[in-house]
Amino acid sequence: MRLVLLSPPGGGKGTQAKRLMKRYSVVQISTGDILRQEVQEGTEIGRQAASLMEKGELVGDSVIIEIIRRRLEKEDTKNGFILDGFPRTIAQAGSLKKMLEEMNLPLNGVISLEVSDETIIRRLGGRRICRDCGLEYHLEFKPPKSSGRCDKCGGDLYLRDDDREGVISRRLKVYREETALLVDYYQREGLLYRMDGEGEIDKVFEEIINKLG
Ligand code: AMP
Repeated sequence: MRLVLLSPPGGGKGTQAKRLMKRYSVVQISTGDILRQEVQEGTEIGRQAASLMEKGELVGDSVIIEIIRRRLEKEDTKNGFILDGFPRTIAQAGSLKKMLEEMNLPLNGVISLEVSDETIIRRLGGRRICRDCGLEYHLEFKPPKSSGRCDKCGGDLYLRDDDREGVISRRLKVYREETALLVDYYQREGLLYRMDGEGEIDKVFEEIINKLG
């Protein structure tokens, strides 16, 4: 199974990608996760990306496309993949198409999770992540047992820099101006499945599975 998940930030693509990965025994490829790793390791890419990410701006297409090219060449993608957070621009989508044609690995579908701005602001503002194991919490929907501590490993919970109020609105604007164009792009390619992303996680997941068969 080879899928792209499209949604605004906080639209649930990461959550659904993790479930789809297990369901289809494929890998999840999140360009956001890869970039955060590069930032943490202080690599050249990480240094270039950090200030853009903090402001909620997109990292340049050429950097992102190179990251994906290298990632798709790895052996573990042979069984399929879920692209989470890529592509985000028409240029990225065009490069992906070319790459996959060359590799003879066409996409099976593109899931667009549709979520209102109001929901996004609530979801992202309350999101907390464990610094040690990466597990996600939400102050309202999935609070930790003890405030500020991970239930699983006791690690510190933090708010992502780009989940702060001013940055969320910038990320949303970037999504609506750039990434939302991909909905029409993939509609024209005949690959698009539009889904209501407002519902419960389990329900959204079931609907995706039903559509994909
Ligand atoms: P995410 O974890 O998917 O919300 O991504 C976090 C941040 O990483 C974004 O706000 C961008 O700054 C950057 N980023 C991730 N994926 C891409 C992409 N495909 N194109 C450009 N920037 C990206």
